[in-house]
Amino acid sequence: MNPNNYKKALQHAIFPYITEATELLNLKSFVIGGFVRDFILQRGITKDIDVVAVGSGIELAKKVAQLLPTRPKVQVFKTYGTAMLRYQDVEIEFVGARKESYTENSRNPEVSVGSLQDDQNRRDFTINAMALSLNKDSYGELLDPFGGIADLQSKIIRTPLNPDITYSDDPLRMMRAIRFATQLDFEIEKGSLDAIHRNCERIDIITKERIVVELQKIMESPVPSIGFLLLEKTGLLERLIPELTDLKGVDELEGQKHKDNFYHTLEVVDNIAPNTDDVWLRWAALLHDIGKAPTKRFDKKNGWTFHAHEFVGSKMVYKLFKRLKMPLNNKMKFVQKMVLLSSRPIVLATDVTDSAVRRLIFDTGEDLDSLMTLCEADITTKNPVKFKRYHNNFKVVRDKVKEVEERDRVRDFQPPISGELIMETFNLKPCREIGQIKDAIKEAILDGEISNEYNQCFEFMIAKGEALGLKK
Ligand code: ATP
Repeated sequence: MNPNNYKKALQHAIFPYITEATELLNLKSFVIGGFVRDFILQRGITKDIDVVAVGSGIELAKKVAQLLPTRPKVQVFKTYGTAMLRYQDVEIEFVGARKESYTENSRNPEVSVGSLQDDQNRRDFTINAMALSLNKDSYGELLDPFGGIADLQSKIIRTPLNPDITYSDDPLRMMRAIRFATQLDFEIEKGSLDAIHRNCERIDIITKERIVVELQKIMESPVPSIGFLLLEKTGLLERLIPELTDLKGVDELEGQKHKDNFYHTLEVVDNIAPNTDDVWLRWAALLHDIGKAPTKRFDKKNGWTFHAHEFVGSKMVYKLFKRLKMPLNNKMKFVQKMVLLSSRPIVLATDVTDSAVRRLIFDTGEDLDSLMTLCEADITTKNPVKFKRYHNNFKVVRDKVKEVEERDRVRDFQPPISGELIMETFNLKPCREIGQIKDAIKEAILDGEISNEYNQCFEFMIAKGEALGLKK
């Protein structure tokens, strides 16, 4: 078989319909980009298929829809000259081959009709510029003008044309380069990496939403530090998340050093990645120490301290999410909570009392398991004896949590005494004492003075009310 023939990639039932429509309209068409790349990399079947027509992509999409037995709806995006339809489990986007030219202040180019070659020239990377013919006479033939196959084999990200122009034209490509390098574990070719560095300020013209899409993909990768190190090296990280670059460096005073919290943080993110697919827990790992830069102090007695960095860090999370236009919803609150509580299990590890465990369960609720996973990932010591000891300590905490939880049911803690009952018992209108009694009951349960059940709580309420001078 012709080594340039990739018919095997075109097994999906949609392709013969596209070929037939192409013939009927007397056009040329090709499947291009991620679908071809992922087939060659054997990354599994890609559900997004991009088709380039030399001619009108919209007309081709409409003709394909007419031929398909399901007669799917064609969604037309006039401004972009593209059309999309769904068939079985795939989404196919059609576009007319085009030529692009860019202006200084926008990543939206002037577009004119072009050849397949023009269309391949406008692609971001050699590995994304490969096309397979869908035309009858050359069905499955690979068109790889920039050596994409060779770059896939040597695991290299390279731009088809001059990288300075490529990145300056559309600076989002800098994020995409780093994202692909992280997802695929590829290297960015040196000329390209230098060009990203030179053009890093251009990232400012890209909307935050698009940047965050790429950050999320880096974060979801098996080894996220690949991406964050590249972002740092190219100057992008300082523009996007300066809270992280502020963690860089080791200070030494009077012979005392602290660790480099930037590299430590990246280790924690890599440690947590195999243990959770929850991207927000990974964000918590990335941000768990950001409060250390503004709280760093040196004192003669204790050396380097980062007093209350968890509290300061959790406040910084809000500002960071807001600046990056990330959702300010429960996900952000979860990240804040993880950052705020990130040192609690460490304190517990050396002194596991029942009441401290009950408080931890109460404060973390359903997120306790996530918090423990974060703390375990935070162990980055290279000393094998300490490594083992710290993990063992957390195992003791986990076991204790289980035991206390089974016994005291504090996770869904709802004190059995309501504000209404307190008001009724002491004949009160809404007032401060009600909150005081409720708090006292909660504290007594968490301290283990009384158990979490009605009779004991009721008696405690009476005693506390009387101590406050209330009458039944
Ligand atoms: P993934 O699905 O993992 O994001 P993909 O390569 O399919 O990978 P898309 O964003 O769907 O990514 O883009 C499809 C194709 O369009 C790419 O393979 C590439 O050829 C081209 N492309 C996308 N974005 C750009 C860009 N900013 N500049 C140039 N070409 C691009």
